[in-house]
Amino acid sequence: MKFISTRGDAPVLSFEEVVLAGLASDGGLYVPQTLPTFSQDEIASWAGLNYQQLAFKVIHPFIDGEISDQDLIAIIDKSYQSFSHDAIAPLIQTGHNEWVLELFCGPTLAFKDFALQFLGHLLDFILAKRQQKVVVMGATSGDTGSAAIEGCKRCENIDIFILHPHNRVSEVQRRQMTTVMADNVFNIALEGNFDDCQNMVKASFLDQSFLPDGRQLVAVNSINWARIMAQIVYYFYASLALGGPHRSISFSVPTGNFGDIFAGYLAKQMGLPIEQLIIATNANDILHRCISDNDHSKKAMHQSLSPSMDIMVSSNFERLLFDLHGRRGSEIQRLMSEFESGHMSLSDEALASAREVFSSFRLDDDATLKLIADTHANSGYLLDPHTAIGVAAARAERSRKDVPIVCLATAHPAKFPEAVDRAAKLFPDARLGQPALPLHIVDLFEREERMTVLPDDISEVQSFITANI
Ligand SMILES: *Cc1c(COP(=O)(O)O)cnc(C)c1O
Repeated sequence: MKFISTRGDAPVLSFEEVVLAGLASDGGLYVPQTLPTFSQDEIASWAGLNYQQLAFKVIHPFIDGEISDQDLIAIIDKSYQSFSHDAIAPLIQTGHNEWVLELFCGPTLAFKDFALQFLGHLLDFILAKRQQKVVVMGATSGDTGSAAIEGCKRCENIDIFILHPHNRVSEVQRRQMTTVMADNVFNIALEGNFDDCQNMVKASFLDQSFLPDGRQLVAVNSINWARIMAQIVYYFYASLALGGPHRSISFSVPTGNFGDIFAGYLAKQMGLPIEQLIIATNANDILHRCISDNDHSKKAMHQSLSPSMDIMVSSNFERLLFDLHGRRGSEIQRLMSEFESGHMSLSDEALASAREVFSSFRLDDDATLKLIADTHANSGYLLDPHTAIGVAAARAERSRKDVPIVCLATAHPAKFPEAVDRAAKLFPDARLGQPALPLHIVDLFEREERMTVLPDDISEVQSFITANI
């Protein structure tokens, strides 16, 4: 399969090349030239497959023989071995025809493990075959860093450097990164904020001359196509568990960079009957404003109780815009240069096609806490603040009560104890208890930590990297 840039002006890449590439050279994002599709009969024949078997069915058309079936099966099996639940993505009922898809059974308790466990094993395989070593460099405000570290810690051909803003990530999130004692893992606590970390990573990708010959940087954020691809699988899995493809299912997705919900959109394009896809945002609501008011404009970042959705701009939205504009790269170039001024509007036509598939919703922190309390009082189920926004959106926006709705649970509540704590104090009648850390990390707070504090200075960070690879 070939991959093309959303801006139409970069080399066409193979699957393996696209896994190693970050942004396209024209500034766009890579997408498949044509999307594989499945017939209803074919999807129906997958009923009863376990998660790993289903993952193979959904993923292998994208790889198109570049990796043998046998090797792909082994990569998938290794990727989901570290999950603590036999179902990998269990469904729990939280209301009438309302379900939560628990995507937090991986090693770092957030859905990012689905993609990053897979990406780590995939990279290891590709690099061994090419006899190549790479440097993974990324910035994190929370969940991505630990999931990337867990995904890459056993990879012989990868050294991974993750920058986080010093003293500005939660203790659980920091410890999940800094307690991994592998020789190829380096945590850099940067004396700056998340934007400083991200700017440093961006600048390093643009000019990689600080690296020794033969080494390149690899991106593990959700611009990496392999991450999106791995996330398509659980939409199929949830649908099949609830009677799909013979009936349509709706999904509500807590959204930041538009990666997770874009995977749902792809599942629909590939033939899965999906009734509604609901974009659920916190106060950082650029996507909700775009879908509801055609107001796609940058606003100052608001620090919310759902920090993994605190974004100003959703990078993967460009992949949807590409489809909405007839896959014309020149249109995307025009829109993106318009957006450099901080604002862009969609044509009536593009907006109407977006609204055929997506609804949107925004929930602020106070309402999020109330929803955590109400849901616990009504069903005994404890939601993390990100998932709570998705559940609220499902209840507010679903168009048909007779169609099952699945809310993607993107994190385990023990990852965000501050929010649960605040909800417990505000709503004592809901009897919220402090969520326990799952067994495999109960001793997280006793483990030894390792990280290097560095100033917000690119030459110091780059020297640290070259000294350690
Ligand atoms: C990353 C993350 C999100 C947002 O996912 P996107 O793919 O960026 O939309 C939501 N919830 C949690 C817990 C996350 O870690």
